[in-house]
Amino acid sequence: MKISLLTLLAPLLTAACLLPEERAGLPRKVHRRQTSNGLAVGTGDRFSGGTIAPRGLGTQSTTLTSILNVAEVSSGLKALAAVYNITIFNTPYTTFNGRTIQGGKVGGVGTCNNAYRVYLNGGIHARERGSHDGLLFFIGDLLYANANDVGLTYGSKSYTAAQVKTALTAGIVFVPLSNPDGVAYDQSSNSCWRKNRNTASGSSGSSVGIDLNRNFDFVWELSKWASSVRSDVASSSPSSEIYHGTAPFSEPETKSIKWVLDTYAKVRWFIDLHSYTGDVLYSWGSDTNQQTTPTMNFLNSAYNSVRGIVSDRPGSNGGYGEYVSSAESTANIAAAKRIGSAMSTAAGRTYSVIPAADLYATSGASDDYSFSRHYADTTKNLVHGYTVEFGFGNSGASCPFYPTSAQHQNNIKEIGAGFMETLLAAVDLGLGDALVC
Ligand SMILES: [Zn+2]
Repeated sequence: MKISLLTLLAPLLTAACLLPEERAGLPRKVHRRQTSNGLAVGTGDRFSGGTIAPRGLGTQSTTLTSILNVAEVSSGLKALAAVYNITIFNTPYTTFNGRTIQGGKVGGVGTCNNAYRVYLNGGIHARERGSHDGLLFFIGDLLYANANDVGLTYGSKSYTAAQVKTALTAGIVFVPLSNPDGVAYDQSSNSCWRKNRNTASGSSGSSVGIDLNRNFDFVWELSKWASSVRSDVASSSPSSEIYHGTAPFSEPETKSIKWVLDTYAKVRWFIDLHSYTGDVLYSWGSDTNQQTTPTMNFLNSAYNSVRGIVSDRPGSNGGYGEYVSSAESTANIAAAKRIGSAMSTAAGRTYSVIPAADLYATSGASDDYSFSRHYADTTKNLVHGYTVEFGFGNSGASCPFYPTSAQHQNNIKEIGAGFMETLLAAVDLGLGDALVC
């Protein structure tokens, strides 16, 4: 298999959750003259105690003047329930700092748990500002458009009122802010904080917290990776930005995401929303995809010494590749291309659509975990899992994950278009079993 130019350049060109120096295990560069923290975090409650429903940039022409604070996400959810009569819920797990993790569900044909076939997740990496905003505002737009029989317009990407109705038939379960402790800390400190705030493994500075997107049960054990990549795919050092915790699903935040997938057991499509660098990443993230050797897979310990070396292509030269069936691969890529195209159209910035491992190999990430569930346990539903990295970074800020106001407007439009396209692609490509409620 040919190695694409993009594959070779990706580690140099892209940040996507981890900055180049963080990938190398070095301290984050401090730009002394860059004191801006980008668009400010809101200080009030624009949803007025859960009475004014969130409305994004798909149903109105306006400028979002600040980032949503943590309390506003809760207020916004409450308002969606009050205005549109949707159901909101708390997951059963309380965070280290005592917060609940909230979600909601909308649309679907029927109201039993099996009616929800798309799961949208935001805010897992604390510093990636705009993630919880983009998800909450998209749901607000979708419900507003449905109630008022209008379409959605995200920049140059438009959808009709009929497409809004179609999208809602997919049934959506959503969690806008899956790392509330981390976000609350990041917003109050402007410290470019990525992890959660659990102090079980370290109580000061960078040793606090677990990288939630290395804590899922997907080849979590570093011994299952080639020795040359073990320090890249995750870390067992608490001070690392990619510290994976003490065990898979050791954290209430990742437990919560697993709980959503277990509870809404017919979810067929999953998106975890991150920033930045304009990528739609489809599985696998463990190594190069291959469709020829089913036994060459993440469950097979015979490959522990070679797993994760992305540069050794599977096949002719004996390298490892992660198995994906041809039909699933086709669907994974088809939806990813549609999402990337919609996001690119919205604000005229080009999104790349690539396998996650082309960015960098990862252990314990949510996209691979969701997609791996039916391989690890054939009684589980197939879930097409994705990581979407919105935005393109703010080189003028103290933390490049903090967007300028202009960047934030574009980000929110791109996220809206990407989620809307996800729902339509899901309906077109398949939602799974006929509903039995
Ligand atoms: Zn991220």
